[in-house]
Amino acid sequence: MKQWADYFHTLGFEYTYLGVKHTKGEAAGDVKELEAIVSACTKCKLHAGRTQTVFGTGDIEARLVFVGEAPGADEDRQGEPFVGRAGQLLTRMIGAMGLSREQVYICNILKCRPPGNRDPEPEEADACIGYLIRQLELIQPEVIVALGRVSSQVLTGSAEPISKMRGHWYAYRGIPVMPTFHPSFLLRQPGKKREAWEDLQEVMRRLGLPLPASS
Ligand code: SF4
Repeated sequence: MKQWADYFHTLGFEYTYLGVKHTKGEAAGDVKELEAIVSACTKCKLHAGRTQTVFGTGDIEARLVFVGEAPGADEDRQGEPFVGRAGQLLTRMIGAMGLSREQVYICNILKCRPPGNRDPEPEEADACIGYLIRQLELIQPEVIVALGRVSSQVLTGSAEPISKMRGHWYAYRGIPVMPTFHPSFLLRQPGKKREAWEDLQEVMRRLGLPLPASS
């Protein structure tokens, strides 16, 4: 299968080691306007199977944004990202950082659910990426946490597996990006939670948040 980095390069996206310069964006003037545009989107085939779009949730002036790959069944039903079991774990991870879901912003690469929770296809990500680009332009976070392989590879342009990327800083348009494991993976592999927590502590250091006494 074609690597994400190669694929996006063919679409005219420019990547550097330290970041990625996407060439496409949307023109919405604020987050609410962008959400309304997304809710009516039919740019890729995923619109046909969705209950509703899943745009994003949290503080639109957040210092920290979490980006996953796509909504699942629970998210499709409720219209909010990360609300199933993986979402509950993400909420606990955010809480361990001394933050709440309301203090951060959470969204996905894709705004509609792929059938059967399969991985996003590159063409779907290409159709949808402009919305995420504009979301991030409007929110202007200080740090992005990329959850899982797809989000990490799309945001950084790297073709490395997530096991190699996690724990290392990348950048997206000058914004530091920390790739880490997706909460769904952590539910299947709880032994990896320690590494994910190390990644989040790196983020806390970057944001100047107080670390737990034992760290
Ligand atoms: S996944 Fe994105 S591009 Fe595709 S229909 Fe939904 S909002 Fe539009």
